[in-house]
Amino acid sequence: MNLILLGAPGAGKGTQSQTLVDRLSLKQISTGDILRKAVSEETALGLKAREFMDSGNLVPDDVMIGIISERINKPDCQNGIILDGFPRTVEQARALDSMLEKLVKKLDAVVYFDVPESELIARMLSRSAKENRSDDNMQTIQNRLQVFKEKTGQLIGYYQEKGKLISLDGTGTPEAVQSRLFAALGL
Ligand code: AMP
Repeated sequence: MNLILLGAPGAGKGTQSQTLVDRLSLKQISTGDILRKAVSEETALGLKAREFMDSGNLVPDDVMIGIISERINKPDCQNGIILDGFPRTVEQARALDSMLEKLVKKLDAVVYFDVPESELIARMLSRSAKENRSDDNMQTIQNRLQVFKEKTGQLIGYYQEKGKLISLDGTGTPEAVQSRLFAALGL
């Protein structure tokens, strides 16, 4: 199964990816985690990405498309993947369509976690206390939410038109969201 988890920052994509990995042995690909690792290792990618991440802006499409096209070709993706944090723009979504086509892989579903802004902000602030993420501060959070509305939000319509979108109530505890998610996927 190949899935995309779509949602604003703080919507629970990372948490729910983990529940699906445990249940379905899919490979989770989190572009945020890939970038954070590159930043901490100070690789060329990390040095390039850091400024965008710290301000809450998107890393350029060509960089992200390059990362994903290399990653999904690896043998550990053969059982299926969960994309967490990619695509975030229509250009990334189009590039992903052609990558999957070339690999003869099918996109099964795009799950959109719908969470109101007040709950997103509360979750990110509580995460910042626990995980010390440099982009979970109020100013960057506001910008990330704005970027989601302006750019990533378009993907809801994009995948709806393709008949791939599953829209889910993402509010409440991780356990409550997990049971809605599993029910929606027929698990
Ligand atoms: P995340 O952990 O998914 O919230 O990502 C953290 C940050 O990494 C984002 O605010 C962006 O700066 C960057 N990032 C992650 N995924 C992408 C993507 N697909 N396109 C552009 N930037 C991304």
